[in-house]
Amino acid sequence: MKILITELIWKEGIEELINNGFQVDYEENLWRNREELLSKIKNYDGLIVRNQTNVDLELMTAGTQLKVIGRLGVGLDNIDTTSAKKMGLPVVYAKNANATSVAEYVMMAMLSVSRPLHLADYDVRKGNWDRKTYTGWELGGKTLGLIGLGEISHRVAKRAISFGMKVIGYDPFIADYDHILSETGVQIKESLADLLAESDFISLHVPLTPSTKYLISESELQSMKVSSYIINTSRGGIINEFELAAALDNGAIAGAFLDVLETEPILPSNKLLTCPNAVITPHIAGLTEESQIRTSLLVAKEVAKVMRNQPSLCVI
Ligand code: NAD
Repeated sequence: MKILITELIWKEGIEELINNGFQVDYEENLWRNREELLSKIKNYDGLIVRNQTNVDLELMTAGTQLKVIGRLGVGLDNIDTTSAKKMGLPVVYAKNANATSVAEYVMMAMLSVSRPLHLADYDVRKGNWDRKTYTGWELGGKTLGLIGLGEISHRVAKRAISFGMKVIGYDPFIADYDHILSETGVQIKESLADLLAESDFISLHVPLTPSTKYLISESELQSMKVSSYIINTSRGGIINEFELAAALDNGAIAGAFLDVLETEPILPSNKLLTCPNAVITPHIAGLTEESQIRTSLLVAKEVAKVMRNQPSLCVI
């Protein structure tokens, strides 16, 4: 059976598929060429993508032999899961495989503003020995607000609490008995407004859906503390970027860490590029050596199971 991979994958996943007897065609940039992808897909039994390939009804219909779609990650906004379900096409995702990497990114973001070691080092190399400017402040005692209380938030909460932070959360789909509340000590907030008003750091961990589109817009930004920072490792489009740039410019909030943007790669015209208090990274929060190996192996193994008609716990 033949599997087409249209985006970056670590070699461990390809080796796993080949060792299991699959023929693998790895075309790292095929996601950029829609016409070519549409004409090739009919020859494959499996399709493995990351977050750039648009797996819509047209592509799935063209893939007349397709038995499974594998997603090298967690967010499913580039896959029309409703149509896949109707067509009986299982979608395998990398359940929890990069959650720890994202959680560590969030800790790094918070630590980099509280203890700006890189700035002190830069200053020392300029010939200075300034023991006042770069001393920073502690994360201990500060409040972290988590929006969405799923897998990634669980890991962020455990780490932040071990730093002595107070962690509050907002997630209308979570009940008191859910593990993140019962096992970590996150305090639930009934309204997003309460969380925004109380937090020193706000970190977003929700999927991009119609209900989370522009969840953070001008009024939400205005209700945050002027000293607060927002961290988005979820998806572009959850924060209104135009209104965020304005809030960063006029001092409504102190800063932002953005790993994801509404249009990726970033457009040169994006206003956020002119904001010195925005740290922008190229969608790498979930990408570490460990998480990539874990993700590629997990998706390869689970896709192989589905193709052999075996049950998989990673099918949505
Ligand atoms: P998850 O499914 O475990 O948790 C998501 C949580 O969001 C759920 O608890 C859900 O109830 C909650 N939620 C849904 N709608 C909400 C709303 N309107 N308000 C508040 N909460 C809401 O997902 P996860 O594994 O924690 O991942 C979260 C997101 O992070 C993913 O959807 C993905 O888009 C993104 N992600 C990004 C990277 C990266 O590299 N930047 C890596 C992994 C995941």
